[in-house]
Amino acid sequence: MQTNNIKPQYGKVFIAGFGPGNPELLTIKTSRLLDIADIIYHDDLLDAGYLDRFSAEKVYVGKRKGRHSAKQDEINSLLLKSAQEGKTVVRLKGGDPLIFGRGAEEYYFLTENGVDAEIVPGITSAISAAVDAIAPLTSRGTSTSVAFTLGHDAQNNKLPKADTLVFYMGATEQKKWAKRLINEGWAANTPVAAVRNASLPNKEIRRYTLEKLVNAQEVLPAPCIVIVGYTASDNVKAHNRKWLYTGSDINNFKAEGIVIHNPMIQFCKLSDTAIPDNTVKSLNIYDRIVFASPVAVKFFFSILFNNGIDTRSLGNIKISSLGVATSAELKKYGLLVEPETKHNSSQKLIEKFAAKGIVDENIMIPCSTEGFDQLPAGLTNIGNSVDAIAFYENILPTNAVQHNLADFYGVVFTSPTSVKNFFKFYDNIPGELEIITQGKFTTELFNKLVVKRESKYIYLG
Ligand code: SAH
Repeated sequence: MQTNNIKPQYGKVFIAGFGPGNPELLTIKTSRLLDIADIIYHDDLLDAGYLDRFSAEKVYVGKRKGRHSAKQDEINSLLLKSAQEGKTVVRLKGGDPLIFGRGAEEYYFLTENGVDAEIVPGITSAISAAVDAIAPLTSRGTSTSVAFTLGHDAQNNKLPKADTLVFYMGATEQKKWAKRLINEGWAANTPVAAVRNASLPNKEIRRYTLEKLVNAQEVLPAPCIVIVGYTASDNVKAHNRKWLYTGSDINNFKAEGIVIHNPMIQFCKLSDTAIPDNTVKSLNIYDRIVFASPVAVKFFFSILFNNGIDTRSLGNIKISSLGVATSAELKKYGLLVEPETKHNSSQKLIEKFAAKGIVDENIMIPCSTEGFDQLPAGLTNIGNSVDAIAFYENILPTNAVQHNLADFYGVVFTSPTSVKNFFKFYDNIPGELEIITQGKFTTELFNKLVVKRESKYIYLG
């Protein structure tokens, strides 16, 4: 870029942001420049009537969708021509000139052609929409990063990694984005706020979750900013109810307000050779395998296959499972289960075994290195011989984030391991927080570790 041969007889071009539409959000500098301008080139400003008060000549150079590149050359030439005529030029752009605004292209074109140019920042529509929806784009403990994203073409455009995403120019694609985000692992209950005509009296705000947006009948048309992230939920409820979820799958927890995922448990497969030989190489010593979780299924088969053994070796071995998610995982391997329980309740499975007279069987239960208390003991008590064999371990995630617990309304624990790891990671739990513990053993362990808080437990069994 050459900026050293600026022609002194030329006028100067200010590439200035108008803000999201409400002139109250103009900077004092842009306002002053509008006063002294000879000519103003402007886009489709949401409040173009405001320009009537300035004596400068006004030229509309708004771009219609699909004609961007051809028109940009024309705009560049117009700006250059006015500057060459010695005029003070304000090139007024919506929001901020450098956010999806092509202000830099105009700047370089002018300076390369010997014209003095300056960029004046403006309030970008994301910032204004965030204020309207009271959806802080960053928030301590909730969102430590934000990405401004091009909302065109939800199928092919790059999806950035950030706690909060803000889509510009995405009105027509917002449902598709919501679907894609869920497919890419965002929780279906992640809040969404769509804001149309941000900063103006006729602004409209819609709130959804990603899932609800996918199923919405109709959505706000352009100009619209779509904010996706925990801070986009209805702020009143969000501030009253902010949950810390310590389990591994946040989709299992539905609650009012916002739910922050802070997994205190991560499943790690043991090495393929760490498993005792009799488990994978002599499976036929077992009459039955009881799977207690989807991860147990995944790691069992992974280790089986890595040892060169496939499902045929299960032969006549009967399969039982704890919880429908475990049964669904087993189906992927072509296996039907009997008996199974609907919920993740060891007690229910033991009762089913007893009712069906399942006794005198050799049973394997693939589990974590922490093992189980109740299930093997219960199945043994009714007359079976049980081996609980570790195929994986439960570890504290290495990248776990420390949140400020005082900011939260409550904490959700889904397993004894998440309780145990939580207290390895956090020193203490503030006394006023609500506690949800899922399952008998989780509740018992929590009670044991935090003796004085008993009255507040909600037992989800
Ligand atoms: N430079 C501008 C963005 C231009 S791209 C800025 O910094 O804001 C145009 C997109 O901006 C629109 O499709 C819409 O997503 C967004 N936008 C602009 N003004 C808006 C407003 N008042 N309310 C909501 N969205 C707006």
